[in-house]
Amino acid sequence: MRDKLRKSYQVQKEVTRNGCFEGEISLAETKRLGELLQGSEADRKGRKIAVSFEFSRNECGIPMIIGRLETSLELECQRCLKALELPLKLDFKLMIDASDEIVSNSDMDTIYSNDGYVDIIELVEEELLLAIPLVATHDDTACNEDWNAGHAESEATARENPFAVLQQLKTTD
Ligand SMILES: [Zn+2]
Repeated sequence: MRDKLRKSYQVQKEVTRNGCFEGEISLAETKRLGELLQGSEADRKGRKIAVSFEFSRNECGIPMIIGRLETSLELECQRCLKALELPLKLDFKLMIDASDEIVSNSDMDTIYSNDGYVDIIELVEEELLLAIPLVATHDDTACNEDWNAGHAESEATARENPFAVLQQLKTTD
């Protein structure tokens, strides 16, 4: 049975007792992420991020936090500027307060505690910020007809080029 989610965790204590937690975070609590999202604040308040995670240690005794999160974000499609729903499901596995040396010899990243405490909302927000594509677009490339028309035109010009070259060869002949 996992304990109910709260905001802040004392790392040493939770690692020792192998604390397991699950719960939901409202998207409205993720301020930095919120700025990148479409939709009203009311919409963001209604949206949840489902989170479950546990504390443990790796084979070198470094504290770790391992978990997964699931949510759906509303972004802006950069092709048609309309809303784009992005469902996200991701796993995270992070060391806590590992030294630079350990991090460079490991395939795992580290987070840093704040005086021995870890804030789960900050962690989740960071993971989501990393997961959001820099340029989000709908899968359907026809979501903006104007954009497509522009592309078709440039492709047509590109196709004309070989003929232009042939034409030049003919005239120099
Ligand atoms: Zn679009």
